Amino acid sequence: MHAENPVAAINRTDLLPETGTRMPVLFIGHGSPEFTLGTNEFNTVWKKLGREIPKPSAILCISAHWVIQEGLAITAMKVPKTIHDFYGFPEELYEIEYSAPGSPEFASRVQNLVQSVAVDLDYEWGLDHGTWSVLRHMYPDASIPVVQLSLNYNQPPDLHFRIGQELKKLRDHGVLIIGSGNLVHNLMMLRMGAHPYPWAVEFDEMVKQGIAKGDFDMVVRYVRSPVAHMAHPTNEHLLPLLYVLGAAGDDSPRFFTESIFAGSVSMRSVAFGLGPS
Ligand code: ZN
Repeated sequence: MHAENPVAAINRTDLLPETGTRMPVLFIGHGSPEFTLGTNEFNTVWKKLGREIPKPSAILCISAHWVIQEGLAITAMKVPKTIHDFYGFPEELYEIEYSAPGSPEFASRVQNLVQSVAVDLDYEWGLDHGTWSVLRHMYPDASIPVVQLSLNYNQPPDLHFRIGQELKKLRDHGVLIIGSGNLVHNLMMLRMGAHPYPWAVEFDEMVKQGIAKGDFDMVVRYVRSPVAHMAHPTNEHLLPLLYVLGAAGDDSPRFFTESIFAGSVSMRSVAFGLGPS
């Protein structure tokens, strides 16, 4: 908990202008970095989402690929670099640049908004592929400021959820919050062309039901599932969902891209506050 200061207290109400329209909040299954290439069932939906959602004033992305061990951090540089944080993929993936601006002002407002943990301003990270592989389809002109919030791997699940609740208010200020991960993510068990493993289906269905019923506690307490250790040997790809659920409030979910890739990666995504398709 960081100390309250009067400037922060003033800035908290001074986010960005209220827009009168509550933005949706999205969890996107990003899967392989290669899904950003060419045209496929996933990036076709990402493109469509970009056209359907009202144009955001800023984008806050919580990506599975920015994991830190202490505290919490938010990118605060004016020009975030494109990070190619993967190995052994086609050369053209390493040539992709997503040149969206950052926003130091917006980053410091988010820093003040989050009260559960202290948030440090970061000038080293940038936009990793959890963010840009999706955004380059949603917003190909890269004109909307993008900031990333890190994941602290050592925090308990309910704290991630609570931070999401604190971020919810941003939705009334034109901000699009995106969690980018996967509902099931076990790369050791990945087999191209494989049918979904029973444990992958079971975990994916458990999370879907929790979301559909508004029983977010079921998702936050996912470790109770007997197959949780198979679905998430490490949980960084699930944690972005907890932020999204925290920010979702009572809004209805809409699921999309619901397939399980290569047996062990659920591409199921969900939007709250978007209305029926
Ligand atoms: Zn990933």
